[in-house]
Amino acid sequence: MGKRSKWIKRASNPNTTLCFSAVVVRALVEIAISMAVKSGGLKSVKQELQQKLFDKYPLLFAQHGLDMQQTCMCWGIETGDGWYDLLDNLCGTIQSYLTANHKPQVEFVQVKEKFGTLRIYTDGTDDLVHGMIWFAEHLSGTICEVCGKPGHCNDSGWIKCLCDEHRKKDD
Ligand SMILES: [Zn+2]
Repeated sequence: MGKRSKWIKRASNPNTTLCFSAVVVRALVEIAISMAVKSGGLKSVKQELQQKLFDKYPLLFAQHGLDMQQTCMCWGIETGDGWYDLLDNLCGTIQSYLTANHKPQVEFVQVKEKFGTLRIYTDGTDDLVHGMIWFAEHLSGTICEVCGKPGHCNDSGWIKCLCDEHRKKDD
């Protein structure tokens, strides 16, 4: 009881709490990233491929420049290189549709791999864009995330969509 009320009292100073939590969150995130990079657990499309997509589709990737309090897009595209063509085609199709039909701009909030397939979270999606993304997410389950050749997801352990060659290397 004593401890709790003390904590609430301290937390009730908004400036201290905000500064403290922002510093702690930032430090923890930096530690987590450095650990993930060292262990090879953090994947991301190669810098130059990612930049190509950002340059080609600046409106879809407009949130890339924002900080982590505002969007997960600050982490970049969190998938392997093998899905680059899939992403390029998806972005091209979405942007052409939006532009040609004078639709409100859609922005990506997060692009990542989850349970072996692509996941894209957005702001302001209509049904058609949602369908395009849904199709690309399903298609990613047939494309090796490492090299882009035909692949499939394993059904046990750490699920990844890989071709036979990369499956062997992964085992
Ligand atoms: Zn492969």
